[in-house]
Amino acid sequence: MADNYDYDVLVIGAGPGGYVAAIRAAQLGLKTACAESRETLGGTCLNVGCIPSKAMLHASEYFDAAANGAMAKMGVKVTPELDLDAMHGQRKDAVKQLTGGIEYLFKKNKVTWLKGRAAFEDAHKVKVGDETVTAKNIVIATGSSVTPLPGVEIDQRIVVDSTGALELAKVPEHMVVIGGGVIGLELGSVWRRLGAKVTCVEFLDQILPGFDGEVRKESNKIFKKQGIEFKLGTKVTGVEVKGDKATLTLEPAKGGDSETMEADCVLVSIGRRPNTDGLALDKAGLKTNERGQIEIDHDFRTGVDGVWAIGDVVPGPMLAHKAEDEGIAVAENIAGQTGIVNHELIPSVVYTWPEIAGVGLTEEAAKEKGEVKVGKFPMLANSRAKTNHEPDGFVKVIADAKTDRVLGVWCIASVGGTMIAQATQAMEFGATSEDIAYTCHAHPTHSEAIKEAAMAVTGKPIHI
Ligand SMILES: Cc1cc2nc3c(=O)[nH]c(=O)nc-3n(C[C@H](O)[C@H](O)[C@H](O)COP(=O)(O)OP(=O)(O)OC[C@H]3O[C@@H](n4cnc5c(N)ncnc54)[C@H](O)[C@@H]3O)c2cc1C
Repeated sequence: MADNYDYDVLVIGAGPGGYVAAIRAAQLGLKTACAESRETLGGTCLNVGCIPSKAMLHASEYFDAAANGAMAKMGVKVTPELDLDAMHGQRKDAVKQLTGGIEYLFKKNKVTWLKGRAAFEDAHKVKVGDETVTAKNIVIATGSSVTPLPGVEIDQRIVVDSTGALELAKVPEHMVVIGGGVIGLELGSVWRRLGAKVTCVEFLDQILPGFDGEVRKESNKIFKKQGIEFKLGTKVTGVEVKGDKATLTLEPAKGGDSETMEADCVLVSIGRRPNTDGLALDKAGLKTNERGQIEIDHDFRTGVDGVWAIGDVVPGPMLAHKAEDEGIAVAENIAGQTGIVNHELIPSVVYTWPEIAGVGLTEEAAKEKGEVKVGKFPMLANSRAKTNHEPDGFVKVIADAKTDRVLGVWCIASVGGTMIAQATQAMEFGATSEDIAYTCHAHPTHSEAIKEAAMAVTGKPIHI
């Protein structure tokens, strides 16, 4: 297919969107290159996002279980000693192995890795470092980076972003997390478990925007019980660093008197913004929307023929699995197949303890569309969760009152991130709550709570 071009497909960015698109394009017989400016492949997700944060969450969970008496309750008496260097070591090791794994997959699939920062010369020509290459199709998968808070300078010492918060050399005494979203709660949890006092300041009147209202409230209660303090409906108007301390100025979001708060670590986690700086989009005839994103159609085409875009740089939730699925779909579309992503069913997971997960509509959004029936089941009544001393949380199934079709599933459970996959799959197949209720679930598993919540939609759960 290459015609007079160097490549059939050039992907810009080797995050979960870009590297997956490149591998699938190569699998489909297209001559493919992927430009990446980082030293390693895997993008935000593998280098400074999903993977290192989960490495720290997993390790700190063990420490916490030993320190907070959860292990002693099960007859395992230990007094933990923190070796933070070793904990960071296993994080770095996970990142090294996984990013190296993508390099292996590129070689195996004959994807050429062009090392360097890419910028458009025209819609089919891109400069990567000192080299200029042409491609019939170009996929922009440049991802996102941390949104700065105006007036607050990230020094990665006292005031850190998520990347800095993954790498702290010592446990802070008092960490203030600005933003009660997924990343702030995950990284706040890591350092709380390792001994820091953690205060989370959130502008909105509840944490986890975008999640089901009841789930947001219950999660807030659970985090408070674990010792995280919250200042909801509060905005940070300034952070002043002097020596090893920061002084934050806080104001009620709706106006009122300001107050100050001291911290030795401030994590700014108010969101992420698309990466398009330096890409010279204008040379390809492209521009961004008012949120800095590249607009695409249903097939991931931009407004310019032969230029496609996926992942965090386009509208939609900024999640690795969404980027990956778009990567597969865009490659299939370029190859003349039909690549589809169902954007209605992208699961969201917070990998805290317990995990918080959801897919489809929140109860509030479902009610706006019509009449619904809701079934709930507490984890306290699930035999496996109870046996494992994991009483917190619940599962909630929201179904259309007339058709019984499942519209949303939400859960707070130790393994909620794993449980939500079955709900997503059922919804992808158009399941009713009855379909889930009459599907045999292995016993004893946390997943039985999904079956029971589905049974509760018609008012007939067995175990409550
Ligand atoms: C701390 C943290 C934890 C997270 N945890 C999760 C999680 O648990 N689950 C989840 O689903 N998501 C998580 N995310 C979000 C997830 O990392 C992103 O949604 C995902 O990485 C987006 O993939 P992408 O391919 O669009 O872009 P990215 O992963 O951002 O990759 C884009 C790549 O493009 C490169 N690039 C940019 N511009 C250029 C250029 N001009 N030339 C060459 N290369 C360029 C960048 O260097 C980067 O490597 C987390 C994010 C963070 C920060």
